[in-house]
Amino acid sequence: MKQRNDKDGLSRRRFLAATAATSTALAAPAVLGQARPRVVVVGGGAGGATAARYIARDSKGAVDVTLVDPSRAYYSCFFSNLYLGGFLDFASIGHTYGALAANHGINVVHDWAVSVDRDKRAVGLAGGGSLGYDRLVLSPGIDFRPGSVPGWSLAQQNRMPHAYKAGSQTQLLKAQVAAMRQGGVYCMVAPPNPFRCPPGPYERISMVAHALKQSNPTAKILIVDPKAKFSKQGLFEDGWQRHYPGMIERVGPDFGGDKVEVRPASMEVVVDGEATKVDVCNVIPAQQAGRIAGIAGVTDKSGWAPVVPHTMQSRADGNIHVLGDASLQGDMPKSGFSANSQAKVCAMAVRGALTGSKTFPARFSNTCWSLIGTDDGVKVGASYKATDAKIAKTSGFISKTGEDAELRKATYKESIGWYAAISDDMFS
Ligand SMILES: Cc1cc2nc3c(=O)[nH]c(=O)nc-3n(C[C@H](O)[C@H](O)[C@H](O)COP(=O)(O)OP(=O)(O)OC[C@H]3O[C@@H](n4cnc5c(N)ncnc54)[C@H](O)[C@@H]3O)c2cc1C
Repeated sequence: MKQRNDKDGLSRRRFLAATAATSTALAAPAVLGQARPRVVVVGGGAGGATAARYIARDSKGAVDVTLVDPSRAYYSCFFSNLYLGGFLDFASIGHTYGALAANHGINVVHDWAVSVDRDKRAVGLAGGGSLGYDRLVLSPGIDFRPGSVPGWSLAQQNRMPHAYKAGSQTQLLKAQVAAMRQGGVYCMVAPPNPFRCPPGPYERISMVAHALKQSNPTAKILIVDPKAKFSKQGLFEDGWQRHYPGMIERVGPDFGGDKVEVRPASMEVVVDGEATKVDVCNVIPAQQAGRIAGIAGVTDKSGWAPVVPHTMQSRADGNIHVLGDASLQGDMPKSGFSANSQAKVCAMAVRGALTGSKTFPARFSNTCWSLIGTDDGVKVGASYKATDAKIAKTSGFISKTGEDAELRKATYKESIGWYAAISDDMFS
């Protein structure tokens, strides 16, 4: 790989055991007051679906749970890169909400939350309805910062897809890669920190390279990156050299990676004033909390929502909890594993507050796996605890360059087990 930036085994059972400490329920919840307390969860992704499921399941019907998400099916961003690489089909990253209603009595509402009245404790829906709550859980994921990549806006997302909210965008990007002319250029405009899934763009590069190596071996990949360094950099660069020599070039901030503009009409990327014609352009803009968090008034000037680590309660409003990518919590990366882990802490806190049942100290964990080539899996992960100031890392681990092929294959298999486990944990 050319570099122009000078600055720079978890099985399914073990996953569930590792996260179970935060989800213990008490047999007989004592309901405070007369009517069943109401929880509204906005966002049915990694954080929201998990929180809704755990609150409903562990309160054994003592809490009335409503989950709001506009989509009938959730396509996970996690493992969407494997779909781009041809390792998975599209259906295998899609999940529906029927089991949450059937198995746990969750009221699933397919609509957008468009307002939050914190005084009246009510969520307004795009369809005109309103949902009252005792506790509101917000896990809306990310939205893009308007204007962060000059020349790009949502109106251009078909010419230059982001594919950073999975679904039709991911399918579009895959189709564009498949249709690329022989010897063409795939460009990624990588996002600045902080953003959803720190290794995600670079796993995507690996998977696009894997697909192109078979269908279009003379194609080139250009990464325009505003960051001096990125997650698992040594592991990715080592893997790119082994699997895709000469195919990938990265332009870091020393060479203008932080001064980029795009021209969707002419399919040009302008780096530090110099225009390059490209064939596919994957623009991943700068990010902030999903818009409803700002509408609810729980974000700060960073664009993210500060939370109390012990309970994931908003620092602006104790009746609101914010999970996953939208939260500003400390050391955890914005990942599906993190959102799922935070959701269990939140569910326990909500159950405790609304039913008087016992709660336990918050513990969190995360692992991010990435696939670099066939059976070449790597991972980075950590454990965390809640302090008053932030979710603080207590220990961590990362794969090493030079690991043998069997270990890399086992790491990949571990990731497959994790995906099955977290899917069950969210939607079964
Ligand atoms: C390419 C890529 C690869 C990734 N790989 C991994 C990986 O391997 N491992 C990993 O752990 N993480 C991975 N991630 C990160 C992971 O997808 C996110 O961190 C995770 O989905 C965050 O969960 P969340 O609940 O915050 O948001 P989401 O899972 O995005 O869920 C948000 C939900 O909220 C809904 N919503 C938004 N606004 C509203 C509203 N106003 N009203 C109602 N509903 C609303 C949306 O429809 C959506 O369903 C990856 C991400 C990308 C982009």
